[in-house]
Amino acid sequence: MHHLSERNIIEAIARQSRGGPPELIKGIGDDCAVVRKAGGLVDLWTTDALVQGVHFDLAWHPPRLLGRKAASVNISDIGAMGGRPRFALLCLGLPAACSRQLLDELMAGFLEVLTMHDMVLVGGDTVFAGERLMLSVTVCGEMEERHVCYRAAARPDDLIWVSGCLGDAACGLALCRQGLRAEEAYLSLCRAHLDPQPQARLGRLLAQSGLIHAMMDISDGLATDLAHICKASGVGAEIMAPDVPLSPELQKTAPALQLAPLELALQGGEDYQLVFTAPADSSAPLQDLCRGAGRDIACVGRITAGEGVMLCREGERQDITFRGYEHTF
Ligand code: ADP
Ligand code: MG
Repeated sequence: MHHLSERNIIEAIARQSRGGPPELIKGIGDDCAVVRKAGGLVDLWTTDALVQGVHFDLAWHPPRLLGRKAASVNISDIGAMGGRPRFALLCLGLPAACSRQLLDELMAGFLEVLTMHDMVLVGGDTVFAGERLMLSVTVCGEMEERHVCYRAAARPDDLIWVSGCLGDAACGLALCRQGLRAEEAYLSLCRAHLDPQPQARLGRLLAQSGLIHAMMDISDGLATDLAHICKASGVGAEIMAPDVPLSPELQKTAPALQLAPLELALQGGEDYQLVFTAPADSSAPLQDLCRGAGRDIACVGRITAGEGVMLCREGERQDITFRGYEHTF
């Protein structure tokens, strides 16, 4: 059987879909669709689904945290454009054997995150379908048109920045798979997988600062997500291996699992941090801005006039374009 990658499928769908009305500023191909409305504002639209057995395993994923994650991964995409999430639609695909308690906990977590972001659940759908639990969420956000940060806005000689640390979520998933979720030493790593914290407020702050060019969230690993920025912008990228931010917990735990921390950071998915590019003279004000907001950012490389994503490690260059994580189906 011919194996279609997620990227090939999306490209084929994008080719078949027709162009929209003039108020559609961006359709398929960024973290959100962008639609112009009155007052210099745009609506942002995004949707993401979590499927049992593909994105989560109820053997270790507490339903409340699963509900939180379904909201968080969508809020992350709104933040990656610089927007403010406002409304959510929830489509629940329920297996026949779904308990009332599971449903209550799921909804408590989902609504908890919506409330944290001052969002409202405005609708959805409920279907009984097959064996697997599925949560498909659509979020609508809003922002000023002039501040929207697109994937296509990277320029040669921009510096590449990421928020937080990378690789924790992939390591956390490996720990959950090995039944080590409850170990005190692994809580922060497991939490990164089970209950990711979307960087919507940081994304908004960065977009409004006018200091940055391109931005997206890191859901499939930096190697793949930066490759999306490069492809959309017609540029290349160089990542300096020693500059990729790795948490102390990851550096301590990954080797014990026979995993390389840097590989998890570049290729593991689901960190939901931000990657963004900015001209070099933005560096000092950017660092001040993020320090003031209590958020860590790290410069991991630079944009080049070439193409693809190169990893520079110990004097060697390795092509890691689109080498990130893919959910197999
Ligand atoms: P993200 O990881 O930021 O959610 P994806 O990689 O899932 O983005 O999708 C990339 C782009 O393709 C987005 O613009 C998304 O809306 C679009 N897309 C993905 N799947 C489909 C689909 N089945 N039909 C139409 N557009 C899609
Ligand atoms: Mg995204």
